[in-house]
Amino acid sequence: MINHRFDAVQPLSFSRLLTVAYFIFCQFHRVTKSEKQVVVIGGGLIGFSVAYHLLLEGMRVILIERNDENSGSCSTGNAGMVVPSHFVPLAAPGVIWQGLRWMFDPESPFSIRPRPSWELIIWGLRFYRASSPARVNRAMPVLRNMALRSRAIFAELADTEGFSFGLQKKGLLVLCKTSRALEHEAGLAVSAHLLGLEAEVLDAEGVRGKDPGVEIDVKGGVYFAQDCHLDPARFLGDLRKEVVRMGGTVLWGSESTGFRQAGSNVRAVVLKNGKEISGDEFVICGGAWSPSVGKKLGLRLPMQAGKGYSVTHPDPPALPGICSLLNEARVAVTPMNGKLRVGGTMEIVGLDESVNRRRLGGILKSVGEYYPQLSAADFEGLEVWKGLRPCSPDGMPFIGRTKHRENVVVATGHSMLGLSLAPVTGEMVAGIIRGDAPKFDMSLLDPDRY
Ligand SMILES: Cc1cc2nc3c(=O)[nH]c(=O)nc-3n(C[C@H](O)[C@H](O)[C@H](O)COP(=O)(O)OP(=O)(O)OC[C@H]3O[C@@H](n4cnc5c(N)ncnc54)[C@H](O)[C@@H]3O)c2cc1C
Repeated sequence: MINHRFDAVQPLSFSRLLTVAYFIFCQFHRVTKSEKQVVVIGGGLIGFSVAYHLLLEGMRVILIERNDENSGSCSTGNAGMVVPSHFVPLAAPGVIWQGLRWMFDPESPFSIRPRPSWELIIWGLRFYRASSPARVNRAMPVLRNMALRSRAIFAELADTEGFSFGLQKKGLLVLCKTSRALEHEAGLAVSAHLLGLEAEVLDAEGVRGKDPGVEIDVKGGVYFAQDCHLDPARFLGDLRKEVVRMGGTVLWGSESTGFRQAGSNVRAVVLKNGKEISGDEFVICGGAWSPSVGKKLGLRLPMQAGKGYSVTHPDPPALPGICSLLNEARVAVTPMNGKLRVGGTMEIVGLDESVNRRRLGGILKSVGEYYPQLSAADFEGLEVWKGLRPCSPDGMPFIGRTKHRENVVVATGHSMLGLSLAPVTGEMVAGIIRGDAPKFDMSLLDPDRY
């Protein structure tokens, strides 16, 4: 008969001792990890997604945002598209020449205001160098994987209590007026298939069949079934509420102006009013303003702000059922809960947030060319939203730890994909801080790559 009582008081064997020690270590490690206090700088979609995922991991979070609660920076009025179809980074072959042609048209979707700035010149040269087919081929699977993971998180969140941001998994139509554009898009559809994404090339009838509730005047298009759309302001609002509900602290009207450091460690963020916010880890999510935040730590985050506009019609004369991209005009059209948002342009004009009415006019004019039931006049007098996209030179975000400081993580530079990639960025940053092995090829996202 086995004497259990005696067995229990037997001296521990060496292997058992090791097991017990390992268990205690794991528990201790888990507790100390989860008790980390993380300071997140920047309260846009990226900052709040990071904060949310850190809180899910049981970490303590303080988010600091220089604006008040009514501001959403670049994150509220965007087109609301979640786009695995955007697997080609902004810096791609042909983009520079197309951009140069557009420079001479005041209504075109792209412009750079020439100014004597080394940063701008170097950014342009890096953009040029990054636009090689080899680099784009390396970037495509990374963007695809990140976008698909993000889409899955959006789908999970849409079914989570506390979230109600109108996720529509209806796909996206790229609309083409010309055969040339359609041929180009058909080529991208082939690349999409090679990456395992769904893409359907359509003639004019096929396009109309996808969105029969509205007139569409095009040569054809491509339908990307895995793309979705949502209301970004509602999503950001949900994240803000959840972050607070989960115990995160949000300091509105608090601008970081520097850091208190000890060796290669950051101890605290110093605010404009002189207060210090201490933490164990710090995450830079300052959007287009991240370079100046990072500079205080000696980080080089070469970025330009890419200004864009949107106008939202509360009760449009015609409402597409699916979101679309007007290919030649580079305009995004998104139905949002009965409203219609149109947006576009990429103006590289520094941190200037003024509205260029001619370029805005170019966006609005183009809508009627693809959707004949709509016209620029329908949008007259409506409030214009503007946002500064944080654009890296190679079109890839900066995500990861910097080698310059031991406890600083960067999460910025998402350019045109900040909404699409916000959830996966939050999840990645939480993993980095927890010390997990990366799930994605991080080399193209390295914040120290320049
Ligand atoms: C017209 C348009 C349409 C778009 N459409 C889409 C789309 O359909 N899908 C998509 O995926 N993306 C889209 N985007 C891009 C997307 O909106 C951005 O990539 C995204 O909003 C960037 O989020 P962010 O959090 O990095 O930056 P932001 O939203 O700019 O947030 C950064 C925050 O940091 C704060 N901050 C900066 N410095 C400091 C400091 N020192 N101290 C404290 N706070 C600081 C700022 O005040 C700001 O609130 C679009 C953009 C535009 C302009």
